[in-house]
Amino acid sequence: MQGCVLVAVALGGLVVAAAPAAASPADHCRAELTARGVSHRPATRPGIAIGVEITGPVGGVTYVAGNRTPLVIDCSLAVSLAEAGSYLRALGVEQVVWSSAYSRRTVRGTGRPSKHSFGLAIDVPRLVGKELGALAVIDDYEQGLGDRVDCLGQPATQGGAILKVMQCQLARSGLFHLVLSPDYDDAHHDHFHLEALPWTERPTVRAERPAIH
Ligand SMILES: [Zn+2]
Repeated sequence: MQGCVLVAVALGGLVVAAAPAAASPADHCRAELTARGVSHRPATRPGIAIGVEITGPVGGVTYVAGNRTPLVIDCSLAVSLAEAGSYLRALGVEQVVWSSAYSRRTVRGTGRPSKHSFGLAIDVPRLVGKELGALAVIDDYEQGLGDRVDCLGQPATQGGAILKVMQCQLARSGLFHLVLSPDYDDAHHDHFHLEALPWTERPTVRAERPAIH
């Protein structure tokens, strides 16, 4: 029956259409990515469960590598970034400059593999847009703002406000397992670390919570 999507079975004059065979998690994730208009092709890397090479904009935002490396990540992270595009575009972000994505390494100071090892994390040091100019996390992020109740706090600069709104929206979107900023530790003093759950473990595909204005 392989390759047969619909099977019509005659049962005493009744025609029953059997349900299509369940897609694999990889097929499902790649279909969700395609449905979001993200151009991609399969990529195989040790450690990545559902590898994709991104070949176009993601959620309407262009991802630019500091070193021109192709963006190869797990499909689950790609879907999260595609969903996050609406937040980024609303803030005037047209380009995300990333410094590290798939990378076989351990979390600093531990023996644990970093989620970068599985293609589930991306580091973002800069955001660029025509109206926005270029925002650098190392220069423009204002540390120590906000708390559990009021995520934003009171940024003093426009660049600081945009970065903080973005961080709060992404953190509360349900799209990412972790959103780490310079507030987290010294290792993150110059970038955001965005991390998704593996496709088979994520509770939702879409953003769950309303945007913060
Ligand atoms: Zn990272």
